[in-house]
Amino acid sequence: MSGEIRKKDAQYIAGTYKRFPVEIASGHGSVAVDTDGKEYIDLGSGIAVTSFGMADPVWQAAVTEQIGKVQHTSNLYYTGPCASLAEQLCLRTGMKKVFFSNSGAEANECAIKAARKYAAEKKGPEHFTIVTLKNSFHGRTLTTLSATGQEHYHELYRPLTPGFAHVTAGDIDELKRVCLDTKAAGILVECVQGEGGVVPLDPGYVKAAAEFAHENDILFMVDEVQTGNGRTGQLYAYMNFGVVPDVVSTAKGLGGGLPIGATLLGEKVENIFTYGDHGSTFGGNPVACAAALSVLNRIDDDLLAEVRRKSEFLFKTFTGAPGVESVSGLGLMIGIKTVKPAGEVVTAAMEKGVLALTAKDKVRLLPALNIPDELLKKAAEVLLSVMAE
Ligand SMILES: *Cc1c(COP(=O)(O)O)cnc(C)c1O
Repeated sequence: MSGEIRKKDAQYIAGTYKRFPVEIASGHGSVAVDTDGKEYIDLGSGIAVTSFGMADPVWQAAVTEQIGKVQHTSNLYYTGPCASLAEQLCLRTGMKKVFFSNSGAEANECAIKAARKYAAEKKGPEHFTIVTLKNSFHGRTLTTLSATGQEHYHELYRPLTPGFAHVTAGDIDELKRVCLDTKAAGILVECVQGEGGVVPLDPGYVKAAAEFAHENDILFMVDEVQTGNGRTGQLYAYMNFGVVPDVVSTAKGLGGGLPIGATLLGEKVENIFTYGDHGSTFGGNPVACAAALSVLNRIDDDLLAEVRRKSEFLFKTFTGAPGVESVSGLGLMIGIKTVKPAGEVVTAAMEKGVLALTAKDKVRLLPALNIPDELLKKAAEVLLSVMAE
């Protein structure tokens, strides 16, 4: 890659990201191409964002068509893509209304606001606590950071937003006790903890938590920012667990590569927000919504079956392989605990033309939902060889 870009980046960009020495110039589907013309099989999808890969032609057509009409109007006016996307999200989930924003953190902020307003109105202003899980990740704004159940994200930014409690995933008695003690407004969980190391929650626990929440009129809220939009082999991960949430937040893969966040509001909170209660300048942007509509329309039963089949292939390929300690995850959200440090595996794989991610001490795979079998197989072989070394 060009030394110029690295120098400029180091000089002018805030130092929050440790980058690999690769400059991606273009891509097609699950193949990324760097500025030296080297090709990589992409198993990261920009962290579960490019649901149908890079520069996908269907996605591109949806985006360029909308850009040719109007790119932004503000929320003072109606636009077609925004209304149609909200309709599709509701029809496909049974949720009632949608608030659009631009990121996962913002989608969670809206969920938290909805829970606080609902509980304050229904039960009183002391019912504001949101209970989340240890090892969770809910975003980087100060409030979603406070929701995140990992100490090391908190350290630099105290004081945090008050009103959050963190409990151990799987311990239903602790969840119930803390909810009652804190007069909880809501419970917020990821069905598969992504940044926490690709850890699926126990199905019995998710069901019991949802039941307890419903019995006590505490909002059961699911963070589907990473797990959503087909990633786990169902449209949303909660659909694997047989529960009905009151609120669903999503982002990442929804826009297929353009920034969009959505907070889906169920029956209890469908009318929680009225004029002026919440807002976003870019939220519901017609280009982002046209992109998301095209993504959502392609996540049908056939595609979801493909995701589950490819997931099985990855579980089979890596479970028990040399250098592999364990495999976790759901759908095309896979965590592999390797004997070698995960970071070393990812760096070595990159040199051999495969882009993968880490999550905690795991190698994390989040390939495009439509990754061709040959590419997935080829990439898996590279990873296997690197892990076994
Ligand atoms: C990535 C992520 C977020 C934050 O999303 P941003 O778009 O980076 O704000 C929130 N929750 C989960 C589960 C995530 O994986």
